[in-house]
Amino acid sequence: MKALKTTLLVLTLILSSCANKEEKKDLTSVEKSSFEFSTWITANSERTDEDYSKEFKGYKDAGIDEVLINTLTDAGLLTRLTPIAVKEGLKVHAWIMAMNRPGDSIALKHPEWYAVSKEGKSCFDTRPYVDYYQWLCPNREESRNHILGLVEGLAKVEGIESVHLDYIRFSDVFLPIGLLPKYDLVQDTELPEFDFCYCDVCISKFEKIHHKSPMDSPNTSIDMEWKNFRLNSIKNIVDDAYKIAKTNNKKLTAAVFPYPEMADHMVRQRWDKWTIDEVYPMIYHGFYNEEVDWIGYATKQGITDVQGKIAINTGIYLPDFKSGAELKQAILLAKENGAKGVAFYDGPQLTEEYIKVIKETKALLK
Ligand SMILES: [Zn+2]
Repeated sequence: MKALKTTLLVLTLILSSCANKEEKKDLTSVEKSSFEFSTWITANSERTDEDYSKEFKGYKDAGIDEVLINTLTDAGLLTRLTPIAVKEGLKVHAWIMAMNRPGDSIALKHPEWYAVSKEGKSCFDTRPYVDYYQWLCPNREESRNHILGLVEGLAKVEGIESVHLDYIRFSDVFLPIGLLPKYDLVQDTELPEFDFCYCDVCISKFEKIHHKSPMDSPNTSIDMEWKNFRLNSIKNIVDDAYKIAKTNNKKLTAAVFPYPEMADHMVRQRWDKWTIDEVYPMIYHGFYNEEVDWIGYATKQGITDVQGKIAINTGIYLPDFKSGAELKQAILLAKENGAKGVAFYDGPQLTEEYIKVIKETKALLK
């Protein structure tokens, strides 16, 4: 719809040379009103179409423009839900858990596909932090192809805007500081049980390029080649997923860590170097014991790094807000610092108070 609007505007500009000033004014208003509100939701195949229709209408009425739907890579369910959401005026993104694939029935038949820690333990049976952390190796042909095959299945679904990669990274070497007490952990250094992937394939691929093994390194946390090898392993998957998305005339987007240096440090994710259309950094201030103004700071960091090549939608975590006023402040900070939109985690957390704030703030931004 936006593309159509843009095309119409361009045509109008070409056709009516005498009304130049007026048309330019229209174009500015289109740009301004394109600040988009989105929300992540997880779908359940047992719910009826009518039920979803009601939920999607609720989002639209609340001022939401886009839904990022996790169907646990069920392309059939996404095919069912997309026209319902589109009919209610929403754009749909196909949210997929990429490297972390809990309960993946195909992957579970291949224990060797899973990422291995520096301790030599596989995520297949030894999960870091939580049982749903079941990370696949980014360098094995078979595990990569499996993930990219799932991306392709979603990319083929008619009517979606993008395939939205989540967990497109390594397992957390460092957890967000605000979450450490929950796990009763101290993480002053890179701990071997949280450091991945030391499987045979990763080590041998690295050795071919650098003629050394991370197993012989006296301190892997300061071995830049080893770090960069892993950053590139994730980038390579994203770049391949981008080609798949484009072949199917879709965008590629991703949920990422707050800003590139932080993502690099915590989860070996350097998203400013990816080939991707848009990112949704999860700027969840409460996870990092930060205040609301940090949402503006982190948004700006990403905006500066991507130099206009990747659009940024600031992701915010609703349970971290103490009031509607704080939520409004966060939305305005995202906009002021250059975000294309703001994404709320998650749909069911949108209270009546927050919906009112979103509507009012949206009207302000138009
Ligand atoms: Zn590996």
